[in-house]
Amino acid sequence: MAAEEAAPGTPQGAGAQETLSNLLHEGRRFAPPAALAEAANVRADAYQASRADRLGFWAEQARHLHWDREWDQVLDWSGAPFARWFTGGRLNVAYNCVDRHVESGHGDQVALHFEGEPGDRHSVTYAELQREVCRAANALTELGVHAGDRVAIYLPMIPEAVVALLACARIGAPHSVVFAAFSPGALRSRIDDAQAKVLITADGYHRRGSVVQLKPNADEALQADGGAQSIEHVLVIRRSGQEVPWTEGRDLWWHETTERQSDRHTPEAFDSEHPLFILYTSGTTGKPKGILHTTGGYLTQVSYTHRAVFDLKPDTDVFWCTADIGWVTGHSYIVYGPLANRATSVLYEGTPDTPNQGRFWENVDRYGVSILYTAPTAIRTFMKWGTEIPARYDLSSLRVLGSVGEPINPEAWIWYRENIGRERCPIVDTWWQTETGAIMISPLPGVTETKPGSAMRPLPGISAEVVDSDGNPVPNGAGGLLVLDQPWPSMLRGIWGDEERYRQTYWERFADQGYYFAGDGAKKDEDGDIWLLGRVDDIMLVSGHNISTTEVESALVSHPAVAEAAVVGATDPTTGQRIVAFVILRGGSEEVATLAEELKTHVAKEIGPIAKPRQIQVVAELPKTRSGKIMRRLLRDVAEDRALGDTTTLTDASVMDLIAAKLPHAT
Ligand code: ATP
Ligand code: MG
Repeated sequence: MAAEEAAPGTPQGAGAQETLSNLLHEGRRFAPPAALAEAANVRADAYQASRADRLGFWAEQARHLHWDREWDQVLDWSGAPFARWFTGGRLNVAYNCVDRHVESGHGDQVALHFEGEPGDRHSVTYAELQREVCRAANALTELGVHAGDRVAIYLPMIPEAVVALLACARIGAPHSVVFAAFSPGALRSRIDDAQAKVLITADGYHRRGSVVQLKPNADEALQADGGAQSIEHVLVIRRSGQEVPWTEGRDLWWHETTERQSDRHTPEAFDSEHPLFILYTSGTTGKPKGILHTTGGYLTQVSYTHRAVFDLKPDTDVFWCTADIGWVTGHSYIVYGPLANRATSVLYEGTPDTPNQGRFWENVDRYGVSILYTAPTAIRTFMKWGTEIPARYDLSSLRVLGSVGEPINPEAWIWYRENIGRERCPIVDTWWQTETGAIMISPLPGVTETKPGSAMRPLPGISAEVVDSDGNPVPNGAGGLLVLDQPWPSMLRGIWGDEERYRQTYWERFADQGYYFAGDGAKKDEDGDIWLLGRVDDIMLVSGHNISTTEVESALVSHPAVAEAAVVGATDPTTGQRIVAFVILRGGSEEVATLAEELKTHVAKEIGPIAKPRQIQVVAELPKTRSGKIMRRLLRDVAEDRALGDTTTLTDASVMDLIAAKLPHAT
């Protein structure tokens, strides 16, 4: 994946050795709540049905959508590794996400409860959403955007962002969303790569109590010398009300352009394999890749998984996915999955600590959120802040809790269950990637007896394996590399403009078997349930043992003083690598001189002496990508006393100076 990025001396893809050591043991089990199991959308029989006839199973899920023309063939894998799902079928994504709900009499149902960071709020019904999407589709058409043209979207979390995505989908113009906090340079390279014709942006937005400007960044990305040249028009949404620089002829206000359009628009049905969007991966390991997703298979799997994994009941649930629309989680579980299923969702513009650290729980309370989908990075932050904060709010509306983005440490899982779910709500730890488009491995809330820290089983219709370096399945109780051994409907259809990189990155490693290589380490426990063990590039090799960063981090987090931990392997002359740990303490914990020793002993006791960190450093922050994932390769640079690699996708590059200053350069 990012072998060229790897530090010299780092045992790449430790899978090259035999298997991963399986150190952590977790005996706690949680059965699904009886009432939920009783009324669950998906029951245990779905596993058998999908095993008996996998393609038939997906065809059945696809029938939940409206197709203008039914498909001829469910899967055409003759051009592997390029899949074609529901060949010959035709449908319109926006029609499926909006119009059909209005036509079935649900026009007055709220689609989005928008909560601005300053506290401004309004709700958008499906009927209103339909009119807005039609106007925006007409506006894009007037600007000369045709089916197949790319549209770049650089927006904060506002309802117009949802409208913009759906308008593109409606006219068959693939969108490329760029996270609003990315730099002009990142926006420029993504516009160039996709040769986008129109850019949709905003004047600015609200973040941490202040107004952040966005339009000047967009201008910088487009500047005459060296800027992206493919953009013909910039549509600017007014959100913050700031004065903005303006380029006559190129720039247009969104409200002026859309308001004069008709609120009617006839959707065209597109081929099932018509491109729906390009999205660049978050760049945890290296240079982002333009992941391409198409229409019919994608919508089938995002809507199925949203229905199955969250048990969504459209008439009664309120769903809140806290991701940003700039990530795949926002695409699949803020926009396409929930809207295809006629969900009522919360859309929140801001951060969890503005104006205070109870903002998330205030939102849950205000809107009666029943399903919450968030990330381990947020959960660990809440742990740091302390249990008294969520304790102040009424969270009784919650019934299902989700996690995505990184492995969730068992103690963070338990904290989430006790303090947010109040021991009532099942937790679904969902493993998937930008490339997979939708959830792949996850418990089902009405079926699965969950284990804290395990994503459990591939969903019905999905097939995954944990294999050794030769591609042979590892036995239960052992670790190895995660692969997907069967194509799935929402799989990526390639990397935009780079067929070779697609083959190399995902299909070369297990070319003989034809497996998709996910780049993550995993283990199967005694029952065959799957535990994600972190990225293959991060796996450590200590005295001949492959040790997962996740397991050592989980052992550290199980100590009451630790809220968050990041572990790396640094080159060592005698053991190959030595374990170096960076820890953040929980709220109220004192930094004590003896703590490091205590933590080392704790890890040795929890999972074994082999995994004992050689060095432990207490830090205030960890380097994270803008999507909140720990960037271990930078910590490895620090631990090995080497110049830092690429830091452009970091939230805050200054964090690295602080960490480097603290670590004694001893070996
Ligand atoms: P890049 O591919 O550019 O390095 P990225 O992998 O961080 O960036 P994403 O597609 O957003 O980009 O993230 C997918 C990865 O996130 C997975 O491969 C896995 O490492 C991790 N991940 C996501 N969900 C889970 C989960 N529930 N448990 C464990 N790991 C997870
Ligand atoms: Mg990735």
